[in-house]
Amino acid sequence: MAQQNNDMVMHRGGCHCGRVRFEVLAPAKLQLSECNCSICSKAGYWHLIVPADRFKLLSGSDVLTTYTFNTHTAKHLFCSICGVKSFYVPRSHPGGFSVNARCLDPATVAEVSIRQFDGQHWEQQYPKGQAQYT
Ligand SMILES: [Zn+2]
Repeated sequence: MAQQNNDMVMHRGGCHCGRVRFEVLAPAKLQLSECNCSICSKAGYWHLIVPADRFKLLSGSDVLTTYTFNTHTAKHLFCSICGVKSFYVPRSHPGGFSVNARCLDPATVAEVSIRQFDGQHWEQQYPKGQAQYT
């Protein structure tokens, strides 16, 4: 059962031009992380990491482009029309998704809290190479 006052809700979101749209099941009060690694710090990305079965791409698979670097584990998916990365497959959770909470429609978001993640020292954060879902 979901905790009282923080029930799971179906959030929707997408890229700027609207071609990429998705839904994600997550609490109304979101616990996000902000990462200082080379790509997240430039993008200002707010991570909402969920297992694959809580994320569904509704439209836009035809316009998504994949960018990879370093270990090429993370699949950085961005809209080839407007350039916004509204979700991607993170290195820490290659079987799931990280949704950019900045790209969620605001109606279902009750609250956000943000913790800092030291992605500049990724290997020390995740010595086993992957992370657990929280
Ligand atoms: Zn777009």
